[in-house]
Amino acid sequence: YTAKRKGSGVVVYDPAIDKTSQESLSLLSELRRALERDEFMLYLQPKLDLASGEVIGAEALVRWVHPEKGFIGPDNFIPFAETTGFVRMLTTCMLEKVARLCSELQTRGTYLKFSVNLSARDLMDQELPATFGAILNRYMLSPTAICLEITESAIMDDPARAQNTLDRLSRMGFALGIDDFGTGYSSLAYLKSLPVDELKIDKSFVMKMEQDQDDAKIVRSTVDLGHNLGLRVVAEGVESEAVWFLLRQMGCDQGQGYFMGKPMPVDRFLEWLQSWRAPAMLDQSENVAV
Ligand code: C2E
Ligand code: MG
Ligand code: MG
Ligand code: MG
Repeated sequence: YTAKRKGSGVVVYDPAIDKTSQESLSLLSELRRALERDEFMLYLQPKLDLASGEVIGAEALVRWVHPEKGFIGPDNFIPFAETTGFVRMLTTCMLEKVARLCSELQTRGTYLKFSVNLSARDLMDQELPATFGAILNRYMLSPTAICLEITESAIMDDPARAQNTLDRLSRMGFALGIDDFGTGYSSLAYLKSLPVDELKIDKSFVMKMEQDQDDAKIVRSTVDLGHNLGLRVVAEGVESEAVWFLLRQMGCDQGQGYFMGKPMPVDRFLEWLQSWRAPAMLDQSENVAV
């Protein structure tokens, strides 16, 4: 890194060389400290059945509440956490929080499914299935309550090794989903060979599908593709009632988006759960104009 060992054995700092490594090192130590101080907060975004409006569960999304810099979104530190391998500890931390909440809710008679995002580095970790198994055992929770979301690019990094980890997780009973479907550089072949249960259409196609005919066609084709392969299809980025209605007409199974609920802290999610009422349009016939 930035320090250079001179003949004397003294480590000398040379600011001209590789300044970014110095920044990386301090960011990594900040991330480690954040984990110790429990600064990573669990946010939850509702996931709904589009035909009935019923709440299926929620996706876990991390937020870093930094003591000085305030609120930091995942796009600002997950990519870095991935390159350093730190993301594995973050994933474990998120699953732990989700498992604790999920089992707590079950004792109160509320059965929800929770999704947790995995990254490529997680799939390379041979110990991951055992680590996850131990967490669920601790909370006496069945893996069937948890869906693990992976992106296409995470699989393509090292398909054989990813397949091995995913096979093991699937055999344990975890549900598996492909996240951001349609945005990765990959072939459709893995959809056939991987033990996937859910296909999640990327929000970039869903958000504007009402105005953009091409987006609407991509979404419709993806719903059909998923169903033909026996998968559950989920749309992310549902921002209006009109898009919900369109997705429902296309037979898309589940949806997630700002229209139903933004990602929120656990206590607010529980309040949301109490107050959520499905839109009146779900009671109407599909022929009725909205
Ligand atoms: P993702 O897993 O695809 O999550 C969906 C993202 O879309 C979230 O952004 C969510 O807030 C946003 N979103 C949901 N509905 C809407 C909508 O209607 N409109 C718009 N414009 N956006 C919507 P977020 O929370 O910033 O997360 C970004 C990405 O960071 C996630 O994408 C995921 O890839 C990653 N991420 C978040 N939490 C974790 C985590 O705990 N572990 C890992 N490995 N990655 C995470
Ligand atoms: Mg996701
Ligand atoms: Mg996504
Ligand atoms: Mg995304």
